[in-house]
Amino acid sequence: MALMITSECINCDVCEPECPNQAISMGDDYYVIDPDRCTECVGHFGEPQCVQVCPVECIPIHPEHVETPAQLQRKYERLQAEARLTVPPA
Ligand code: SF4
Ligand code: SF4
Repeated sequence: MALMITSECINCDVCEPECPNQAISMGDDYYVIDPDRCTECVGHFGEPQCVQVCPVECIPIHPEHVETPAQLQRKYERLQAEARLTVPPA
């Protein structure tokens, strides 16, 4: 499942740098999560890092992006492959 940020977000900026997939960015009014990039931290950490650090607990599961662990793993692998393509050769 991808996660989502609700309007209870206080824009504290803490979660954005913790995301290993660069899935979190500032939206119009508060931070948002790109469901195409959120793996629930599968592939990187055992727990969602944004949820761990959020002081107001405003990051639930996105009800429209329910995914299995296998789907999240495939999303992680796609993101890793994309990252390799965008890294310039040494
Ligand atoms: S659960 Fe992990 S991948 Fe998803 S937005 Fe939070 S920190 Fe990023
Ligand atoms: S940690 Fe929570 S309150 Fe802070 S910016 Fe992220 S979602 Fe908003």
